[in-house]
Amino acid sequence: MADPVLTPIESWGRIGAPGHDLVTPWTLAQARQAIRPGATPWLAHGMGRSYGDVALNAGGRLIDTTRLDRFIAFDRDAGVLEAEAGVTLEDVIRLVLPHGWFLPTTPGTKFVTLAGAVANDVHGKNHHRVGTFGCWVRSMELARSDGSLCRCSLDENPELFRATIGGLGLTGLITKLSLQLARVPGAYLDSEEVPFHNLGEFFALAADSDAETWEHTVAWMDCVGRSAGRGIFMRANWSDKGGYDLRLDGMKVTVPFQPPGFLLNSATIKLFNETFYRIKSWRARRTLQHFDPCFYPLDSINRWNLLYGRRGFYQYQCVIPRAVQREAMDELLKIISASGLASFLVVIKVFGDKPSPGYLSFPMPGTNLALDFPNCGATVHKLFERMDKIVADAKGRIYPCKDGRMPADIFKSGYPGWTKLAALKDPNIHSDLWSRVAGSQG
Ligand SMILES: Cc1cc2nc3c(=O)[nH]c(=O)nc-3n(C[C@H](O)[C@H](O)[C@H](O)COP(=O)(O)OP(=O)(O)OC[C@H]3O[C@@H](n4cnc5c(N)ncnc54)[C@H](O)[C@@H]3O)c2cc1C
Repeated sequence: MADPVLTPIESWGRIGAPGHDLVTPWTLAQARQAIRPGATPWLAHGMGRSYGDVALNAGGRLIDTTRLDRFIAFDRDAGVLEAEAGVTLEDVIRLVLPHGWFLPTTPGTKFVTLAGAVANDVHGKNHHRVGTFGCWVRSMELARSDGSLCRCSLDENPELFRATIGGLGLTGLITKLSLQLARVPGAYLDSEEVPFHNLGEFFALAADSDAETWEHTVAWMDCVGRSAGRGIFMRANWSDKGGYDLRLDGMKVTVPFQPPGFLLNSATIKLFNETFYRIKSWRARRTLQHFDPCFYPLDSINRWNLLYGRRGFYQYQCVIPRAVQREAMDELLKIISASGLASFLVVIKVFGDKPSPGYLSFPMPGTNLALDFPNCGATVHKLFERMDKIVADAKGRIYPCKDGRMPADIFKSGYPGWTKLAALKDPNIHSDLWSRVAGSQG
């Protein structure tokens, strides 16, 4: 048989575009054919919103699941949705919001498939209240390379269920799943923005907001130079004002071409941070906000990932356990601000206690920090190595779905459950992330 033509596929961070044997099944039968016993090593792919190499399988087969996107059932009284794996969060919102339901939790983009949300066990601004996406999955069906079709839930094949939640796409092809939705009183949120001057104030605001039962909390933080540690704390609760207005008008702006990478440098980011902080500090801070700009501010800029230029960018996202969060965050902030490398997007959030059923879920009780850095080669890797040490010493972990470079030892110490995943992994699934972090042991 002739070698397949390889299609270049980029991840969201756009570091490299390895060739893949891209297969797009439209039916479950076609999907099972593509992963049949004896097929080349494969990996499922959703909307490609993961930043690093968790959804890449260079030189191998990539199953594009976005056409497996049918709704199967929606119980409007109980708020239970059954759908194929490639249905996106946006599709779900369009269907269920007019009936008073919403996703139980959502990442910062709605352009994510249901299965992608499960495979990385994604979290949202309400993690401290509701836990991760995987906490709300009732059951799933998995197609495996041995030809089997396996249903799993906490009662049926529970180990496979736990391994699949946060399982990085390695346990099989999720074909469909059932999800418990959350009741909401409308499409709007009462939201508030509060400036803070340093990390101490951030932690105080996070604690107060939790005590005052704010459901959605997150903060933007400045990490540049002497301003490092100041930021804007955002919190919101669902409102009964405004009605169930969908208002999903699609993209508002498109990045028309790839600008030179140097446009996002320390000086321009410093200027942006100063302006953003000042505007947010003196503008009215309490608003009724539609869920779309509240949860998905970046979705209004189509292909914003081009802004980092030809060499792409990395996101470093880590979580530090609660007992040492203050000291470790201080240390991280110090080395980041002293590095001279500016991050355009810095997000900090305190996670809650609700455990995920998944063996490899990223969140833990503690504080989560995420930063984007343009790919400037060795300089940024040196900074990452220093950050890795702080994270490892604190017994924290790095988020695989944002990662394209974490060393194997950091992965294994951060995720002791990795051996349980390795034991249940589908032997014919291959991902670039897994071969880097688990190697031949995986
Ligand atoms: C702007 C932006 C904001 C974000 N905000 C957050 C956030 O707040 N919180 C958060 O947790 N994440 C966040 N993310 C990350 C994003 O939620 C995850 O990367 C998510 O997994 C992407 O889903 P996807 O459909 O694009 O899947 P892909 O990125 O294509 O794949 C992700 C994983 O899912 C697996 N997979 C896909 N389909 C299947 C299937 N049918 N069966 C088995 N495995 C499958 C893949 O193999 C891969 O391992 C954000 C990403 C962006 C771009």
